[in-house]
Amino acid sequence: MDSIRETHYSSNCGNPSLIDVGNNGAASLASSSSSSSSTTSSRYENQKRRDWNTFGQYLKNHKPPLSLSRCSGAHVLEFLRYLDQFGKTKVHAQICPFYGLPNPPAPCPCPLRQAWGSLDALIGRLRAAFEENGGKPEANPFGARAVRLYLREVRDMQSKARGISYEKKKRKRPPAQQIPTPPFPPLPPPPPPQPGAS
Ligand SMILES: [Zn+2]
Repeated sequence: MDSIRETHYSSNCGNPSLIDVGNNGAASLASSSSSSSSTTSSRYENQKRRDWNTFGQYLKNHKPPLSLSRCSGAHVLEFLRYLDQFGKTKVHAQICPFYGLPNPPAPCPCPLRQAWGSLDALIGRLRAAFEENGGKPEANPFGARAVRLYLREVRDMQSKARGISYEKKKRKRPPAQQIPTPPFPPLPPPPPPQPGAS
């Protein structure tokens, strides 16, 4: 699908800012804090930190390297497309006989993608994390118009391809799939936990 390429313009977030992705304290949390007895809100916070950390890693591994302050909506789109390779949601092509069937009776070679609901939730968390880490709301690449348009496009495409309507009220939301942490190159060990930081 090349139609999305047209949205690949850079949105205006050229504001130089003082965000330091390496200094957000997220790295110490990403490794092995998997206590399952946390409340919903701290699970959200943990997930948000993990996502933020993942995005920071993505920027570091970006070629050429990319700093958060120069990150635009177009880079966020790149990131979302990159995540698709780890997706688990079958999205049928229009030529597939199962296009539009919610429960296809047989396997097919259509690609797996990140579900729209996952991406939408991810962007929400990253958008919040960006501002919590000192980013200016008006420079928030996760709130860029291109990102909103892309998400809408994904939603429409997936809803048609899977025969599932996402148009209903949001109150009965299916549990969003967690975005798996992509296999980045090994990281240096995290700093020892600070006493009192929990
Ligand atoms: Zn298919």
